[in-house]
Amino acid sequence: MALGLASRSKLIAPSATMAMAAEARRLKSEGVTVHDFSLGEPDFDTPANIQEAAIKAMRAGLTHYTAAAGIPELRKALADHYTRLGSPTLPAQVIVSNGAKQSIHNALMAVCGPGDEVVIPAPFWVSYADLVRLAGAEPIVVPTEESEGFKLAPDRLAAAINSRTKLVMLNSPSNPTGLVYTRGELESLADVVLKTDAGVLSDEIYEQLTYEDAEPTCFATLRPGLAERTITISGVSKTYAMTGWRIGWAIAAKEVAAFMGDLQSQETANACSISQWAAVEAIQGDQSSVSAMRREFIERRRFVLDRIAALPGVACVPPRGAFYAFMNVSAHFGRKIGGFEVVDSTSFCKAALAGGGVALVPGAAFGAEGYARLSFATGMETIRSGLEAFDRFLRSS
Ligand code: PMP
Ligand code: GLU
Repeated sequence: MALGLASRSKLIAPSATMAMAAEARRLKSEGVTVHDFSLGEPDFDTPANIQEAAIKAMRAGLTHYTAAAGIPELRKALADHYTRLGSPTLPAQVIVSNGAKQSIHNALMAVCGPGDEVVIPAPFWVSYADLVRLAGAEPIVVPTEESEGFKLAPDRLAAAINSRTKLVMLNSPSNPTGLVYTRGELESLADVVLKTDAGVLSDEIYEQLTYEDAEPTCFATLRPGLAERTITISGVSKTYAMTGWRIGWAIAAKEVAAFMGDLQSQETANACSISQWAAVEAIQGDQSSVSAMRREFIERRRFVLDRIAALPGVACVPPRGAFYAFMNVSAHFGRKIGGFEVVDSTSFCKAALAGGGVALVPGAAFGAEGYARLSFATGMETIRSGLEAFDRFLRSS
């Protein structure tokens, strides 16, 4: 008899972003031209000083297991970083994991379980709701309005929290909308939370990627008493173009951090030793490559927004952070494009790939029907030719 899967297997679907990227890769390997806007992954090489630090670590024999929660040097560098931001942090509160994705998973496993609710404003990053379910808790999705820049209003948050609410998940700058809350807006959300027993998971992985007058805010610093109930998540993937190195972290109250370390000691042991040394250099070394990549993203964002403004039936709230354009494509639902019936974001993205060779991620994967996400963390060549192909596709029938 075939081995049956645990009931847990029904709780999650494969990551929609990873699935779309895999499909785009498959088509490319078959020789099909694909303009790939699917994955939120910087196309840049990891800066040379970081690569050198990794090579040095390897040659110095730093290739063994490390402490499960991370090497002391990296934990200390991160504790100092958050202390400088205004949230006094001890190395014992820092847990280094295999990417922010694992940090989020471990954080949810640490504090959520059956009977708990986790409030998630939509649109949200694809993995949030599934990881909450995997931890046995229930995601409570709170929709936001495009006309309000997808921002969660404090009264909507207050209405969503009850005695079962364990966490509120915030993500500013946001994937997929690029929304960045102002400090004042986050303070208002913090005040709502502080009147309840809920905690906050603040995913700040795009903290260094903001545009125009938008500024990142470390949520835990906003009010006295907030740090104790906040789990801050971040990592090196986006800022330093280090997606493949798999280093992320969580900052949490000592007991929560200690459990997350214990959990990791059982499930994966430590994050890659060499990557951890590279991350120390990323955080403490020369930051000029970060500014250079940021300048490039600013240019791409300008180009993408200008080009989207000229597309038929597409609207987009300008992203103020991260590297995504979250396009409202619902004006096209109910018509045929490129020979394909389009009725929702999933059929729209399927048609865009099959009919236009353009890989996008459907809004449905982010809890927001009617949209398609375009990642501009890809080269200008792809952006130019891909948006031309997308324009042609939208004008076809
Ligand atoms: N949070 C958000 C909002 C993201 O977009 C990503 C991208 N993968 C992650 C967390 C996880 O990043 P990583 O695991 O590469 O550190
Ligand atoms: N966070 C990126 C994205 O949303 C990378 C893919 C993933 O980790 O899901 O596209």
